[in-house]
Amino acid sequence: MPTPLPLLSPSARGFQAIPLAERPAGRQPIVPVLGRPPRVHLWHIGCQMNDADHEMLAERFAEIGFVPDAALDDADLAVLITCAVRQNAEQKVYGKFRDLIEWKRARPGRAVAMTGCMAVEHGSTLLRKLPELDYLFDVRDCDGFFARLQSVHGTDLDGPVPMPASDRLLAYVSVMGGCNEMCTYCIVPFVRGRETSRPVGEIVEDVHRLVERGVREVTLLGQNVNSYSDPGTGAGLPELLAAVDSVPGLWRLRFLTSHPRNALPGLFEAMRDLPTVCEQLHLPVQAGDDQLLRRMRRMYTVDEYLAKIASARATVPALALTTDIIVGFSAETEAEFLGTEQLLRTVRFDVVHLQAYSVRPGTAAARRPDDVPLTEKKRRLNHLLELQRDIALQRNLALVGERIEILVESTTDDGRPFGRTRQGKIALLPAGSAAVGELCVATVRTANAWQLAADVEAAAA
Ligand code: SF4
Repeated sequence: MPTPLPLLSPSARGFQAIPLAERPAGRQPIVPVLGRPPRVHLWHIGCQMNDADHEMLAERFAEIGFVPDAALDDADLAVLITCAVRQNAEQKVYGKFRDLIEWKRARPGRAVAMTGCMAVEHGSTLLRKLPELDYLFDVRDCDGFFARLQSVHGTDLDGPVPMPASDRLLAYVSVMGGCNEMCTYCIVPFVRGRETSRPVGEIVEDVHRLVERGVREVTLLGQNVNSYSDPGTGAGLPELLAAVDSVPGLWRLRFLTSHPRNALPGLFEAMRDLPTVCEQLHLPVQAGDDQLLRRMRRMYTVDEYLAKIASARATVPALALTTDIIVGFSAETEAEFLGTEQLLRTVRFDVVHLQAYSVRPGTAAARRPDDVPLTEKKRRLNHLLELQRDIALQRNLALVGERIEILVESTTDDGRPFGRTRQGKIALLPAGSAAVGELCVATVRTANAWQLAADVEAAAA
């Protein structure tokens, strides 16, 4: 029987991956011989890291002989890739889990596994709380889970199964996990551990494989992606971007999420010089006041942040800038809030992801009072939403008449093709003027705060 896992505690913050946990032998599902490869249904919620983990797990399942990404009704195993960053993400996981209870009871031998941040945060208490849960594993160290499945389903496994053809144009590739920053409000370092980077060669191979399957745009992911460092050579993010840029057939390359502290001129130069790297930088600032930034432990001042932005814009003139802001952090004063408002006016971001502060148990900030009333948090949030709507509108209207490049991703219900520009803006085209998968050059005809409408000039690829 596996050793019970402790709840997250200071001693559990040794950043070790949690071992596989499962029901005791007598309570495991009896797995019938299926006479065919077992099928797995993968479900995820939360950030793009979980999207990348979904892709990685699908490949691992195919390697051991499972049919990856089956529809739930056809599946023998359901795997939930969870998120613990906010309370409502956890509630959605529990909701999904409730749906799976009926599914599991409908056919004996079905099983449910859980991974992702909730698995690490709550550990094996989840097995006690959720009697229908069979396996709990850490996505950072999933060899034990796959070995267990191979022993349970051995008679039905007949070597690797080909990955189904994908119609996806866009994919996420995880290049590093964890974060060393320890921002006081954030649970990520406790559930994803310390930073560990994957070798450049392995990442380039992943991208090759994705491009062969039809992917044209790749986003490299890390919680703190610009502190990427190849474990063998020490190559940083600019070198990684250069290596991935050279993959034939890749049209576009992006990266998420950058920490302002590690946003250095060499990165901006790589963005300028590498043809596939898109002119888009997500640089979360979180607040526009030095005292507030110190309480958040963000390790930069407002002036330092503004200097980074000036350097990035000077190097990459067509740059689109996006950011994250938290309003109503512990003890946030009106003056501090107004500092954030001023920062938005000064920088004029293209997109701002705003959220009201909510406490995550286990973080350093959870020891401080959550003392900005909810009504005040909402007022501050709405005020910034309105301000940012105006700024985004003006920035998008300034593009009217400009030529843009669009990778057509899909069509709207009324048949209009749409996709994103290199700057990450959504652009709509007239019905019938472009096909999904095309890279088009178009002229912006009109714009609102959220999207552009453009007319196609020519196919770019
Ligand atoms: S840099 Fe991002 S992921 Fe890391 S601790 Fe800070 S907020 Fe969390």
